Amino acid sequence: MKKILVLPGDGIGPEVMREARKVLDVVNDRFTLGLACEEALVGGSAIDATGHPLPEATLQKAREADAILLGAVGGPKWDKLDMALRPEKGLLGIRKALGLFGNLRPAILYPQLAGASSLRPEIVAGLDILIVRELTGGIYFGQPRGVRTLENGEREGFNTYVYSESEIRRIGKLAFELAQKRGKRVCSVDKANVLEVTVLWREIMEEVAKDFPDVQLSHMYVDNAAMQLVRAPKQFDVLVTGNMFGDILSDEAAMLTGSIGMLPSASLNEKGQGMYEPCHGSAPDIAGQGKANPLATILSVAMMLRYSLAAAAPADVIEAAVSKVLDQGLRTADIQSDGMTLVNTAAMGDAVVKAL
Ligand code: NAD
Repeated sequence: MKKILVLPGDGIGPEVMREARKVLDVVNDRFTLGLACEEALVGGSAIDATGHPLPEATLQKAREADAILLGAVGGPKWDKLDMALRPEKGLLGIRKALGLFGNLRPAILYPQLAGASSLRPEIVAGLDILIVRELTGGIYFGQPRGVRTLENGEREGFNTYVYSESEIRRIGKLAFELAQKRGKRVCSVDKANVLEVTVLWREIMEEVAKDFPDVQLSHMYVDNAAMQLVRAPKQFDVLVTGNMFGDILSDEAAMLTGSIGMLPSASLNEKGQGMYEPCHGSAPDIAGQGKANPLATILSVAMMLRYSLAAAAPADVIEAAVSKVLDQGLRTADIQSDGMTLVNTAAMGDAVVKAL
């Protein structure tokens, strides 16, 4: 039996999770996957119930789970709390405790939605790239950091951009393994013309590449990568990069696809344990109105089956079902266009279940 920890979270989190659970329950039965799901509190709802965004009971269940499925956390109700007690700390706590170092952010544009992108359809239709972002190191975590006062009284802010060889090798290996299952091309993004840490990054990527002769490695400076993503995004297969560059490029790539309501993500550790979640937040502006698009969370279920539960066949079935409902012309408000049928969150979930 495999254990799945379900964390609906806040805002639209519980709404999209309800639909994802319907889909998961059906494939669990049909493919006799033997998955046991358990729910727990995280984020704002956990603060309300226990005073902490990541209660010990939730953390314990997260450690024991084979995979975690998360909705979203946060909302204006908790914005004024002390930094250490904000809903987002719940997610950071899980990432840290489980060592989730590899963040997978696919940017896929279903041909049916090519009109939703801000780029011309011929540039983005059929887009399928995977950004692999290092998630637990780099400048977001490097020490020393802070704001200090100089002798002349002026204040100075500083952070440290640091990566060890083993951290680079670990994320590189993950990117190459993923590329082997896709288009067999890895583009490593750095700023090796300016930053020594990324000179080392480039060197280690070259070393890792030797173990993957079937995968082609290229390098690109981050400024050029930002430009190429909007100029000719289909040139990429897998992009691998550090924490900060990955943070920025993955949001840029997300926007190529038009709606954040369509994008799943995964964060993995070395044991293949992972946390799976839609890229979007808790969308307080539409929470409780049945307007949220559940497809990103449903597609996160597919990623979970593929990457943490070695169940590629049901993952394929879910992705095909999502494509089918788009073919049928069903659209939530965020991806609505002329001539398509507007549906609410539950109707979209039900349509996917029917299409499975
Ligand atoms: P957001 O992603 O919640 O919303 C941005 C916009 O996209 C909103 O207009 C929203 O209505 C829309 N949107 C988002 N998801 C959608 C969906 N599934 N279907 C249709 N429309 C959707 O980002 P935000 O407004 O910057 O943040 C809101 C809250 O979420 C904040 O508290 C923030 O901290 C939190 N947040 C959480 C996560 C997470 O849980 N991983 C990620 C980002 C933001």
